[in-house]
Amino acid sequence: MSSNDKYTTETITDVRPWTDSLFSFRTTRDRGYRFVPGQFARLGVRGRDCAGEDPQHRDHDSVVWRAYSIASAAHDEHLEFFSVVVPGGAFTSRLAKLKEGDEILVERKSYGFLTTDRFEAGKDLWMLATGTGLAPFLSILHDFATWERYDSLILVQSVRTQPELAYEDLIRGFDRSEYYAEFAHKLRYARIVTREPVPGTLRDRVTKLLASGVLEENIGVRLDHDRSRIMLCGNPEMVEDSRKLLTGRGFRISRRGDPGHLAVENYW
Ligand code: NAP
Repeated sequence: MSSNDKYTTETITDVRPWTDSLFSFRTTRDRGYRFVPGQFARLGVRGRDCAGEDPQHRDHDSVVWRAYSIASAAHDEHLEFFSVVVPGGAFTSRLAKLKEGDEILVERKSYGFLTTDRFEAGKDLWMLATGTGLAPFLSILHDFATWERYDSLILVQSVRTQPELAYEDLIRGFDRSEYYAEFAHKLRYARIVTREPVPGTLRDRVTKLLASGVLEENIGVRLDHDRSRIMLCGNPEMVEDSRKLLTGRGFRISRRGDPGHLAVENYW
């Protein structure tokens, strides 16, 4: 590991493809790197083929930087990230070529407010994700304090096709985990697959399911101002539409010094 004031140089230790365009990867973690579950890191990838890239995202060393939510637990020795390959995208097409042993830069600072400390009180934590927006919720689900604090943890994962239901085994496996099994009865997990029929999953978009009340019915928990604390992450249109729906029902965005019911993060 080498470092400068702004970032450390880490090593890719594992790459896991989920589909042709979805993969996750692990990196070494600097001992001094701190983050709160739900936050994102800024990752840098070096490259020589920078011609034509967006200069806003480039620094003078030809490093392309992007924000990535951290999927791993705050107590893990490694960092894990979950990514889509954006067709023609400067960063992800370069990232997708990286393999075990390659280097990746990690900014020393962590960012973002999709964290449970934005909330006060509340009994049910709702986590609504589309696509790779699942990542921060994986980190939150590995935080023991979250399991202790809430009566229910409700995870909604929306993807286009069944193979994109990444991490499903891990999510379903909390009840078999040595550390989480005692809490696992608190987890409710709803899968939405929008572009093909898959038994046991919902088919409509999360926004439609929210508006119709079908999501609450399916999960068996009602959205309630006193009990519900809601986090949204993923497709920016989903985040915006869900935010409007929920604020229309009287749920308020949490702001610094003014805790509400909602915390949101656009994923791109
Ligand atoms: P996605 O289009 O975000 O779809 C994932 C899930 O979200 C699907 O179930 C989809 O339903 C649903 N969804 C999409 N828009 C919605 C909305 N307005 N309201 C409610 N639900 C909505 O798919 P993805 O595979 O995660 O990403 C798609 C593309 O986004 C990628 O190919 C990439 O180009 C871009 N992307 C870019 C970045 C980046 O960092 N630049 C990151 C992630 C994704 P439907 O099937 O009904 O659409």
